[in-house]
Amino acid sequence: MAAIKLAPRLRVLRSIEKEPHRYPKIRRFTMAVTFVVLYAIPLLGIARFDLWDGRHMAAFERTNFVYGFGAVFLSVIVFYLLTFVVNGIVGRLFCGFGCPVGEMSRASDTAEIARKTGENRLRDEGKAWGFAALLATAGFLWFVDPRVFIEGSLKAKLMATGGLLGAIATVYLLGRFVRWSFCRGYCPIGIYYSAVQTAHAFGIHYDEIESVCKGCDYCEQACPVGLDPKDLRKPQNDVIGVGIEGLPQSNHCLTCGECVRACESVFLQKPGLIPPLSLSRKADARKPEDQKKADKKGKSADKAKPVETKEEPPRAEPESELQTAAKLETSL
Ligand code: SF4
Ligand code: SF4
Ligand code: SF4
Repeated sequence: MAAIKLAPRLRVLRSIEKEPHRYPKIRRFTMAVTFVVLYAIPLLGIARFDLWDGRHMAAFERTNFVYGFGAVFLSVIVFYLLTFVVNGIVGRLFCGFGCPVGEMSRASDTAEIARKTGENRLRDEGKAWGFAALLATAGFLWFVDPRVFIEGSLKAKLMATGGLLGAIATVYLLGRFVRWSFCRGYCPIGIYYSAVQTAHAFGIHYDEIESVCKGCDYCEQACPVGLDPKDLRKPQNDVIGVGIEGLPQSNHCLTCGECVRACESVFLQKPGLIPPLSLSRKADARKPEDQKKADKKGKSADKAKPVETKEEPPRAEPESELQTAAKLETSL
């Protein structure tokens, strides 16, 4: 049988997707919330700018062109403000768990793995097309009253159908060919986030003191935007599009947790060891000044206390590391 050619990132994804994990479950819920909001706004008449028959809606009332447009515009502004508030508290958690565009990229990753390996191809391609349809239809409803498919003239029905199918194909193709590049250098929300990102206790933490890093780099390979999760304070220089160079990598981190999943998968057979990476809330080193404070605090505490002999944290013996790596390679 011919060898399967998968990029390193897809190989890691293929491996970790075989293990059940809490993040996809959480994401199913958060994504459902996103879609309920996206569908409810036009369907309940909170905002719609109807290109078919001028059936514009604002605040549950039929309205005119100006107010219909204003309601859609205002909804987008409110959405942006909300995501900015979320960003101020927990960083780019919306990117990792609430953004349907990111989820489309995730579905496209899975479909690409299926295309390359031939495993579950129909199912995973179907899921990618299904998600594209869900997302495109949500957008479509903001601009076309769905009654066009019942009450519209033949021409209106054909145009609406063509528009919807075109939107679905566009979303699918963007997922297939652009994917995470959009997040890395073109998404206005993402660029805003990376530019204004303030330090957060919540996020990806690499704890090399308490744990045992195997140096396998699966976390790095799993990252959809090419970061090194082990040191997110490093500046990010290979940006694309209109992304901003030189900012810490933490500003570009989507808080998606893929690196944590990859890291946890390496430690699956080692229940006594704590994976070094976590997506958590820790008052540590997201800000360099906090790190300095923490270092100072540590030094003064050391002076005050008598020196204690601590038990070394558990270390993985070399044979086990090799076994784990070999096991992962086999499963990839
Ligand atoms: S960068 Fe933009 S498209 Fe990507 S996950 Fe964040 S909000 Fe979504
Ligand atoms: S560093 Fe981890 S959480 Fe951040 S984008 Fe990369 S994989 Fe996602
Ligand atoms: S996946 Fe975990 S063990 Fe492997 S290099 Fe990354 S942090 Fe270390």
